[in-house]
This record gives sequence, structure tokens and C-alpha cells, in this order.
Amino acid sequence: MPMLSNKVAIVTGASSGIGRATAKLFAHQGASLVLSGRRRAALDELVAEIAAEGGKAVAIDGDVRDEAHNRVLVETATATFGGLDIAFNNAGTTGEMAPIEDLSTAGWLETIETNLTAAFFGARYQVPAMKARGSGSLIFTSSFVGHTAGMPNTSAYAAAKAGMIGLTKSLATELGPQGIRVNAILPGGTDTPMSFTNAPGAGPEVLAFVEGIHALKRMAKPEEIAQSVLYLASDASSFTTGTAMLVDGGVSINKT
Ligand code: NAD
Repeated sequence: MPMLSNKVAIVTGASSGIGRATAKLFAHQGASLVLSGRRRAALDELVAEIAAEGGKAVAIDGDVRDEAHNRVLVETATATFGGLDIAFNNAGTTGEMAPIEDLSTAGWLETIETNLTAAFFGARYQVPAMKARGSGSLIFTSSFVGHTAGMPNTSAYAAAKAGMIGLTKSLATELGPQGIRVNAILPGGTDTPMSFTNAPGAGPEVLAFVEGIHALKRMAKPEEIAQSVLYLASDASSFTTGTAMLVDGGVSINKT
């Protein structure tokens, strides 16, 4: 029996990396999907792939910093699939990385808006739809950075991702009585376009360093993170709410 039969889910940042892998897994598990991303062509390709495998998905392109985009995603879920059960608020950016005295105000704001304010915009529109359903699962992609680890030159990213954990805990208590669960997922280093290891000019020494800080001595594949998102989205985690769930290959505890 598929784990997400008859469920409707929004996935943001669906055009690549963790969002794309999760969208495909959700579709395999029977969910109907509303996919969000900025790259129309990549979204169209994903929708076609899901359809070819027998799944159901529609895509809306837009920027998660745009409040109206978040509203339209929920309206589309309701109009196309009859409601909303799951929201994976996953789009994010490391943004400008610089020593604090060099970090621009525009860079700070862009990083906070893309990660944290967008999470607020998402929840603001997703929660009423879930209340109408009488249940739901909200999931935010945070990071070990800012929670179990400090890394230099990532102050805006760390602050935004830590802020998302505070948002998660507050909403979990606010929405628990309505049967809505709220959790954050904290991936370790994952091989996606945003990873430092895939930055232009990053050599094998960068990959070796990032692999080495994990207890498992490797990075995650996006598909491995998606399995944990599926757990949080599904009834398998029916008594799990308010968590900051590490899926980090042991980067948080590794001292070797
Ligand atoms: P990715 O670059 O493949 O995916 C990020 C997605 O977010 C992309 O689809 C991108 O287009 C989208 N996005 C960025 N800014 C946006 C905006 N303003 N509006 C709409 N979409 C926007 O990288 P990923 O690793 O899959 O990232 C997914 C999430 O995982 C992010 O929130 C990231 O912070 C988090 N994360 C990643 C790692 C890692 O090592 N890759 C580790 C911890 C947390």
C-alpha cells in the first residue's frame, strides 16, 4: 500500500536536489503534487517524468519570497486536487557568504527572506487548508548549520535555518490541537547544485573535506534525504511533531 495514497502535497524547490528527489518519491507513494520552482523548463520535465510513471503533478513557477506565489500554490492544490495534506517547504539558498563586517544588508535580507520569511508565507496559506482537512504535515528544510554546528561566513544562512527551527516548534504547539504536525528536517552535506562541493572552482580537496566531517565519511544523495521527508509526511510519523530531525550522516556528532 503506497504511504501517501489520497494525499495532496506541495513541494517547493522542486526543480532540483532534495525537492526533486522528494517530489518523485511522494509521487511513487501515491501523492498528488503541486510543485514550485523558478525554472519552468525543469518543472515541466519533472511533471512529465512523474506523469510517465503514472503519478499526478502540476507545476507553478515562482519565487518563494513572493507571498502571492505561496497563496497560489495552496489555491492550486485545493482547486486541482481538492485540498492539502502535506507541505514540504524546502526551497532555500546559502546566499551571500562573507565575514560579518563584509556581509551586505541586501545579502542578509535575501537569505533571510528565501529561507525564513518564505517558510512563514508558506505556513500562513497552508495552515488554513490543513485546518479545513482536520489534519496535515508541515515540513521545513532547515540545516545542521546554525543548530549543531557553527561555520564561519554563514551568519545569514545559519540565522535563517535556526529561525526555521523556532518557527517549527511554535507552530507544532499552535497546531497540534488541530491534528497538524510540524517538523524540520536537517540534512547533512548533500550532493546537490547548492553544495559547496559543486561551487565553481571547488576542487577534490573541498569534497574530501566535506566528506570527512561526516561520521559516515561521505555526502548524502538527495534520495536519502527524501526518504526521511517521506517519513515525516506520512502517517508513519503520526506521533512526531516539533522535532528538528537530523539526517546528517553524523556530521553533528563527529569529532574524528
Ligand atoms: P538545490 O540548489 O538543488 O535546491 C534548492 C532549490 O531551491 C532550487 O530548486 C532553487 O531553485 C530553489 N530556490 C532557491 N531560491 C528560491 C527562491 N527565491 N524561490 C523559489 N525557489 C528557490 O539544493 P538542495 O540542497 O536540494 O536544497 C534544498 C534545501 O536543503 C535548501 O533549503 C537547503 O538550504 C537545504 N540544505 C541543503 C544541504 C546541502 O548540503 N545540499 C544541507 C542542509 C540543508
